[in-house]
Amino acid sequence: MIEMRGAAGAQLRALVLGAGAGGGFPQWNCRCRNCASFWAGEAGLAPMSQSSLAVSADGENWLLLNASPDLRQQIINASQMHPRAGKRHSPIKAVLLTNGDLDHIAGLITLREKQGFDLLATEEIHSVLRANPVFEALDPEFVSRKPIALEAPSEVLPGLTVTLFAVPGKVPLFLEGEGPVDTSAVGEFTVGVEIAAAGQRLFYIPGCAALPADLAARLSGADLLFFDGTVYHDDEMIREGVGHKTGARMGHMAMAGPGGSLAAFSGLPIGRKIFIHINNTNPVLRAGSTERAAVRAAGWEIACDGLEVALTRQDQSAQAQGR
Ligand SMILES: [Zn+2]
Ligand SMILES: [Zn+2]
Repeated sequence: MIEMRGAAGAQLRALVLGAGAGGGFPQWNCRCRNCASFWAGEAGLAPMSQSSLAVSADGENWLLLNASPDLRQQIINASQMHPRAGKRHSPIKAVLLTNGDLDHIAGLITLREKQGFDLLATEEIHSVLRANPVFEALDPEFVSRKPIALEAPSEVLPGLTVTLFAVPGKVPLFLEGEGPVDTSAVGEFTVGVEIAAAGQRLFYIPGCAALPADLAARLSGADLLFFDGTVYHDDEMIREGVGHKTGARMGHMAMAGPGGSLAAFSGLPIGRKIFIHINNTNPVLRAGSTERAAVRAAGWEIACDGLEVALTRQDQSAQAQGR
């Protein structure tokens, strides 16, 4: 459990609710090398729930970035997310979706008990939700669905501004048709998020197929970056014998290789870089792996469930609190 700290002035805080990609780690039906080790009880492999980040400017009101199928357990595990006033309460005041993938939207069903919050996404992602009647469980009397245009900064919580921008990606898996899939499409279906609060800038980009020059320029100088760490090798799931898709085909750039994120971010000035949305096949999850060492040597951290980062303008220092 994470210790709760009171609101101590303006401070940008980020709490990793889930560090894993779709399926989490271990995945319920998987026996890839990592998952098999976990099922066998080997040490050095921590479980991860599915990708979600909570951010706050005051420690009281939180914005959820993606709602994973594990949301209920994530709330239980993090005291910052507990109800703490009256008979009905939640510190979660808004939920922002970065794409329409199942592992980012299924948790909305957990938030259905007549609790008010803003549901924020691009118009395109809202249309995915509207097309699925299961999300009518969110009573419109309590839940306000608000479209956010790309490149339009909006103050979604007091003192906390978000800006959505398109990143290379693809449409959600369940919307893929029969034909070839464009995995470098740039539009409203996959977005990155810039969070500005207390004079600090944080980026959350759990899905990204490539790092074009304009995106690199945007991220340059950021205080904190959470970036797509789905696979280490592009062909990792094929190598492991648990899938036939490459990372690129799923809309995720690999860490390794000439087009990978380790090479792409090398030399880019960013205060702190943390991989998130890590697939269960990724060898960086293994404590003693050469891949994990390579990532660390390149100046990256690997997120875990419960990791908290607090950024303050005063001392420009970041402190992390794990669980
Ligand atoms: Zn995902
Ligand atoms: Zn696995």
